[in-house]
Amino acid sequence: MTPQATVSNAFTVDLEDWFQGLTSTNPLVERWPEMESRVVPATDFLLGILRQHQVTATFFVLGYVADHYPALIEKIAAAGHEIGIHGYYHRFVHKLSPDEFKEEIERSIQAVYAITGEMPLGHRAPYFSVNARTPWALDVLQEKGLSYDSSYFPVRNMLYGFPEAPRFPYRMNGRNFVEFPLSTLRIGSINLPMSGGFYMRTLPYFFLHWAIARLNRAGHPAILYHHPWEMDTGQPMRAATPRERLTHYHGRRSLPGKLHRLFDAFRFVPLRQLMEDVRETAVTPHTADLQTQGA
Ligand SMILES: [Zn+2]
Repeated sequence: MTPQATVSNAFTVDLEDWFQGLTSTNPLVERWPEMESRVVPATDFLLGILRQHQVTATFFVLGYVADHYPALIEKIAAAGHEIGIHGYYHRFVHKLSPDEFKEEIERSIQAVYAITGEMPLGHRAPYFSVNARTPWALDVLQEKGLSYDSSYFPVRNMLYGFPEAPRFPYRMNGRNFVEFPLSTLRIGSINLPMSGGFYMRTLPYFFLHWAIARLNRAGHPAILYHHPWEMDTGQPMRAATPRERLTHYHGRRSLPGKLHRLFDAFRFVPLRQLMEDVRETAVTPHTADLQTQGA
């Protein structure tokens, strides 16, 4: 066992269909039923890889998917994975009013609770869109009974980002609520994204391994993210913009091999398990302090 294997990381999955994650097809909710749903076979493929390595993950489930494919959610929960929420219609949180966000959260909690009989603990915003423009979002989540969020992505890119956010998990000041930012690599004064999606599909394995080991050596968990459509080579290519062709479709074939190697090399637990560690340390560091930490 390598030294970094003593630190637990989290592999998280944003469970949605390909057309719900694409910004060009996402708003066409009334046309979703005509689009080819691939979420069940794509998730089955991922569940097979996780089972092979006995990795338990956190699945942030879109409420719409839970309502349409309850058997899939049952299967994921029965395999021991954690079920969290990912909104109902996969909308940008910063484009919603606080009341609209509340409604999305209530509806997605209900959709999941109706299947699992358990209150979800965690939330991941669609497009990581909880940021400086949504100062009310974490209050809403706590008010609705959730215990943690994992939406801060301390980078800047074309679609999302919250570059000034803390880089590491922390418990909010005086509250029983944890934020798990998506992992980044700090080089000089820049946070580089590496923890999932397009970056994990595009970056070579040795780099991903090095970046996660570097975080773990500094005592930090890596918080990784994935979407089932990212390994689905059979999904339709329609309706994609040039940006989407790159960020949505590129690198799909190389990803399964990378996941096999990562799951062999590192330890992964569901986020709810990591939350306990953050509570124990009960640190609420300043954003500025976090930004200057190593790794
Ligand atoms: Zn999503």
